[in-house]
Amino acid sequence: MLVLKFGGTSVGSAARMKEVAKLINTPERKIVVLSAMTGTTNSLVEIAAYLYKKNIEAAIEKIKLLEKNYQLVVEELFETKTFREKGLELISSHFNYIKAFTQDMFTLFEEKAILAQGEMLSTALFYFYLEENHIQSTLIPALNFMRIDEDGEPNTSFIKEQLQHELALHNASNLFITQGFICRNTFGEIDNLKRGGSDYSASLIGAAVEATEIQIWTDIDGFHNNDPRIVENTKPLAGLSFDEAAELAYFGAKILHPSSVLPAKLANIPVRLKNTMNPGATGTIICNETKNKGIKAIAAKDNITAIKIKSGRMLLAHGFLRKVFEIFETYKTSIDMITTSEVAVSVTIDDTKFLNEIILDLKKFGTVEVDTALSIICIVGDFIAESKGYALKIFSALENIPIRMISYGGSFHNVSVLVTTSDKKEALETLHKTLFEHD
Ligand code: ADP
Ligand code: ASP
Ligand code: MG
Repeated sequence: MLVLKFGGTSVGSAARMKEVAKLINTPERKIVVLSAMTGTTNSLVEIAAYLYKKNIEAAIEKIKLLEKNYQLVVEELFETKTFREKGLELISSHFNYIKAFTQDMFTLFEEKAILAQGEMLSTALFYFYLEENHIQSTLIPALNFMRIDEDGEPNTSFIKEQLQHELALHNASNLFITQGFICRNTFGEIDNLKRGGSDYSASLIGAAVEATEIQIWTDIDGFHNNDPRIVENTKPLAGLSFDEAAELAYFGAKILHPSSVLPAKLANIPVRLKNTMNPGATGTIICNETKNKGIKAIAAKDNITAIKIKSGRMLLAHGFLRKVFEIFETYKTSIDMITTSEVAVSVTIDDTKFLNEIILDLKKFGTVEVDTALSIICIVGDFIAESKGYALKIFSALENIPIRMISYGGSFHNVSVLVTTSDKKEALETLHKTLFEHD
């Protein structure tokens, strides 16, 4: 079984959906995971924001605009009157559902139900398109099998069991279509795997069915060696190891959802990144082994907050770090970087929901300083062999950039540095030049 995920741009218009239909029309048995059409989830987030603010008029205006866009997609997607009517009916039913939320109380629960409509629409339209073109497929609702637990983590045994059950109901089918991103939580409510979560859906689905390969189809020729939105002359990489890809995704490479590598890694299923706009390009293969040594890629993660706890008296005394970590654990806030000295310990976090509570608790141990608007730059590669000289290259590239923290040696494939976000672009560019364009 293959799992193929198509992102927002890949299904972003009627023309693009038709291209996807061509790409998937091959004999292998497969599950196709679709995102919402590009821009839809952002629009739904905006609609929800208006509804939170009780700005019903603005919400309705935005809903109508989005509905109109979908009506145009239907006109372009379908050839026959019957399918145009089916498409328009489908759209009205989803938009009537969204409009119903303008009448009543609006909470996180309603917001999640609204956010799910993008993937519901794209998959249903695509399914109709296949039907109109006599390509047999089965639409399996992600809400029937994709589930997260009380900590927001996927319930992998439930997913496996329920997905196998859904597939078994259609034993003769060779082509399954399902929604990325959306799921149910432990209360059975509609929920999601966070923004960009369709990659995560694909990886969880791949692991659940023990797929031979998970393919992530997007709008670029594979994993680039630096962020192409910021740096010029970035190049696609032929291959990455699971650990390298996980590190880069976690530290800001938008091409993959931060959690999406782990399920594939645990199940040892190769992940192939491909370009829908240029299917002939090789793309990137992410698997267990890595052929090339040395520095491979750079990524950056924004909105980082650094917290420094200074305590001459207690620092590094037996049990001190445990007490510090316990505070972060209490507030379910994960730490990205950590450094220690004789008199201080510094950590970085990206989730500041409980920052005030954390600071208050940390103050029991010493003085606390907080620094915001920071970025982590993560340099990834295979540093095991020929490990000499990498640090020198990296830090000489950054000679003119003030570095706030350094993390090196935590693993064999990651060097991270903390800089102010205003220095990020220059840091990425100068690292790119020094590490990848020097000869
Ligand atoms: P999709 O909608 O298909 O999920 P995304 O927009 O989430 O696509 O991810 C693809 C985008 O990720 C690319 O268009 C590119 O701008 C961005 N990106 C950021 N870092 C990288 C990288 N290292 N390699 C490739 N693309 C990257
Ligand atoms: N549609 C969702 C989003 O825009 C999920 C995804 O595209 O991966 O975040
Ligand atoms: Mg994405």
